[in-house]
Amino acid sequence: CGIVAYIGHREACPIIIKGLRRLEYRGYDSAGVALLNGQLTVYKKKGKVADLEAFIGEQDTHAHIGMGHTRWATHGEPNDVNAHPHYSTSERIAIIHNGIIENYAALKQHLQQQGHVFHSDTDTEVFVNLIEEIQKQNHCTLEEAVRLALHEVVGAYAIVVLSKDNPNQLIAARKGSPLVIGVGEGEFFLASDATPIIEYTNEVVYVNDYELAVIKDGKLEIRSREDVVQTPYIQTLELEL
Ligand code: GLU
Repeated sequence: CGIVAYIGHREACPIIIKGLRRLEYRGYDSAGVALLNGQLTVYKKKGKVADLEAFIGEQDTHAHIGMGHTRWATHGEPNDVNAHPHYSTSERIAIIHNGIIENYAALKQHLQQQGHVFHSDTDTEVFVNLIEEIQKQNHCTLEEAVRLALHEVVGAYAIVVLSKDNPNQLIAARKGSPLVIGVGEGEFFLASDATPIIEYTNEVVYVNDYELAVIKDGKLEIRSREDVVQTPYIQTLELEL
């Protein structure tokens, strides 16, 4: 139900946890974080953000790229396994997702035939395996695989994708579910709404439906699902903190 992500020079994990707290008002049943730091590590837990924090405990969360999620279950009961982020079968790609993938059952069957293994009952796990399968079939970049996957899924989504093979990159896309990008000095914040972002920057880009945002090497690029580069419209928010 809520998304937060960070890429930049600061520690990602505290920013993400704080952001998830700011999105708590949206309601949720579980929460999780993925951190990219050479390794792609996922921590997730049923319950409150405080339960997730307790679960992470004293572990080393050092990373400058990461994403977090609060889940409002639509497919699969609220439990630790169904909580986001979800890995692809190879565990090289991770996704967080708000929304519903309506054609997940057909996609899942097809992906299982291709050898993909599913651990959760979510529609979301199908999305990340679809990206992995498309990348394998097309020998393409991750961003191209995400873009092509957007043509296959029916439903609503705001997603963020991280990959172990792309250690300095964060990819996001949306259709129907909200997604805002905060543009800082060589750093970017992603969230479902601006509340987790405004304490860091008031320059924001609202991602449009069927757009893909690729943040790589300190630069933001927005493309349409048809692969046309879009000029990001940066708005200055004037919100009270
Ligand atoms: N449909 C997804 C799930 O049930 C995402 C739900 C959400 O938006 O939080 O896991």
